[in-house]
Amino acid sequence: MTAVLEISGLHAGYGRIGVLQDVGVTVAAGEIVSLLGPNGAGKTTTLLACSGMARVSGGDIRLDGRSLLRLSPHAIARKRLAHIPEDRSLFPSLTIDEHLRLCAKPGGLDVLELFPELKKRRNRKAGVLSGGEQQMLALGRALCAGPRVLLVDEMSMGLAPVIVERLFSTLREIAASSGLAVLMVEQHVHLALKYAQRGYVLGGGRVRTEGTAGELAERWPEIESSYLGR
Ligand code: ATP
Repeated sequence: MTAVLEISGLHAGYGRIGVLQDVGVTVAAGEIVSLLGPNGAGKTTTLLACSGMARVSGGDIRLDGRSLLRLSPHAIARKRLAHIPEDRSLFPSLTIDEHLRLCAKPGGLDVLELFPELKKRRNRKAGVLSGGEQQMLALGRALCAGPRVLLVDEMSMGLAPVIVERLFSTLREIAASSGLAVLMVEQHVHLALKYAQRGYVLGGGRVRTEGTAGELAERWPEIESSYLGR
């Protein structure tokens, strides 16, 4: 399987602080891949390095075979890499429609068809939406320009389980139908292994182990005691 996103031998951090050491992760077209591991393991930093927001000091990050290193975050976004950060980064005073107008492209995804919940509230400002609606908007905004790669940080954070399942199953359908490659950070292991095909367990800035979701689920008790110190 050829990787759409290929992270190899990655060393990255912030300023003079090194966080990631020799991290290797691949995501193929249509695949959802999870980054797992304890707080401070380097999961968010891996996503930030991909979108040009952490300092890379070694290794490479390639999208469709082309290196993203030395490109600005803007230039990386133009290569069709979308990133939903943990805080969702919406504009509280802009409406749903205004958010979608900022990113809509001819031939892009119709977000209001995808999430009828948003259609009903299209003139509401993002700041007054529920957490679930905000995350739908963040996901819709990321998808509406038709990305090749989507990075998602803690999509389930603070949301009711029914909303979380809806967001993840929508994401899975889109990945399967459009070939979108998804790399996600998810604290809830059961969700990560339910919706991802493969996963990587990070600890102390390194990949400790990896496998298919089935393999990781089976080995989870051992993984917890070996790598997560539980
Ligand atoms: P969490 O679930 O807590 O977000 P994580 O696996 O995503 O965990 P990271 O956020 O990647 O972990 O953090 C990895 C390490 O990098 C931590 O030690 C953290 O303190 C450090 N770090 C994160 N952001 C910065 C920053 N802006 N400047 C300096 N160090 C940072």
